[in-house]
Amino acid sequence: MTHVRDPLTGRIERELAPPADLAPIVAGLRAAQAAWAAADRGEVLRRFGRALAADAALLEALVADTGRRTESELEVRLVAGMIERWSAATMESRGQTPSAVVPSVVLDGAWRPYELVGVISPWNLPLLLGLIDAVPALAAGCSVLVKPSEVTPRFIEPLMRLVPPELPLRVIEGDGSTGAAMVELVDAVAFTGSVPTGRRVAEAAARAFVPAFLELGGKDPAIVLDGCDLDRATSAVLWGGTANAGQSCLSIERVYVHQAIYEPFVGLLAAKAAKVGLTCEGGPIGPLIDPAQADVIERHLADAVTRGAAVLTGGLIEHHGGGRWCRPTVLTGVDHRMLVMTEETFGPLLPVMPFTTTDEAVALANDSAYGLSAAVFGPTEQDALAVAARLETGAVSINDAGLTAIIQEGEKNAAKLSGLGGSRMGPAALQRFLRRTSYLINRSTDPDPWWHPAP
Ligand code: NAD
Repeated sequence: MTHVRDPLTGRIERELAPPADLAPIVAGLRAAQAAWAAADRGEVLRRFGRALAADAALLEALVADTGRRTESELEVRLVAGMIERWSAATMESRGQTPSAVVPSVVLDGAWRPYELVGVISPWNLPLLLGLIDAVPALAAGCSVLVKPSEVTPRFIEPLMRLVPPELPLRVIEGDGSTGAAMVELVDAVAFTGSVPTGRRVAEAAARAFVPAFLELGGKDPAIVLDGCDLDRATSAVLWGGTANAGQSCLSIERVYVHQAIYEPFVGLLAAKAAKVGLTCEGGPIGPLIDPAQADVIERHLADAVTRGAAVLTGGLIEHHGGGRWCRPTVLTGVDHRMLVMTEETFGPLLPVMPFTTTDEAVALANDSAYGLSAAVFGPTEQDALAVAARLETGAVSINDAGLTAIIQEGEKNAAKLSGLGGSRMGPAALQRFLRRTSYLINRSTDPDPWWHPAP
């Protein structure tokens, strides 16, 4: 039995639906793919995106799933924009080109979409992460089966009501066992979630001999150089670390600040953080969606305090109305012995550590098992970019934080444990779901070109 729990009250609302019979779903999606690949996909996707943007029931279900409204509204807006963008996408035809080696041979080719793509997604941004890979796969001409997290299944039903009949997209309830069963039945998997589950999915995909595109955890650093705009840097770091109550893979989870500006930076950050309240008292910080994650945050806080960290703001898992909450928490006196500097916390914690040289800042930022994204604040764009070039990571926000949450047009490949496979952002996201057949056409009238053995 998997319980569906209300994050605001902690109450169990219902049980998760029993595991779906995947065989007929998979067969139906496969049967629909050829017609979809030949259809005017842009027009259908555009209709879907516009219906989704205007649907109050979907928004309310997302709010019920997550306990927060502002980020749910942002999520719907981002997804609608994403669908609109992909509805205009096509794989450019390369035309016929002569071979550079044998000009009488002309190259042409065709893109072949995977018939069925499986998407498995987490609970922190249920709608966005359920569709972020599904939509480019649909735009490429694939059928798509999505299984969102068992923690946040309420949005599935209103979403499915908006899917046009021509669109071969099914979103189903299910827990990890349904996810595992899906991997056996699809032609490619796009997975977003934790590193341990990502490894399991990659292993199962290897056994099934299908590609797995993995988008996993992060421990994003922010580097704040001397001479940058402190007001801007503190506001951006605060947003980047506490939006969605820090429950984002790309949250800022460690902050390295030049010694010369460390004291004023920490003072300003803590003063701003202290003013950011919980939604249950009219502020912007929603509840912790998954109680298991609240336990992780609590463990990281206890470990940091035991090892000597000072708590400037927040610092507790609070219980209000049955839900669990955490205020923006600024920590100082931190170092890399602490879990809060090394493991993914997934909560609104901002541990701040001073550095003296740029080399030291880069070494600290790269001293991580993760490499999802990062932020650099500098006196000039060039100074920040020079540091960004030395970071082992997939994307760097310059003079801002967390920009990949908003702008999905820049291609990026995560480093280390944060992911594997082609970029989920930018034009390359479409290509992950296509295979290429080349046609090599010999137009020579010579019956015996030099590579045919002499008779
Ligand atoms: P999770 O790994 O526990 O679960 C993710 C999904 O995998 C769920 O739908 C779950 O039901 C499914 N699953 C579980 N076991 C499975 C199995 N054996 N086979 C197939 N599917 C299985 O992750 P979570 O707790 O839901 O999400 C939080 C994690 O997601 C964090 O680590 C976070 O950093 C990561 N995340 C990454 C990105 C990114 O873009 N890189 C974005 C958001 C979240």
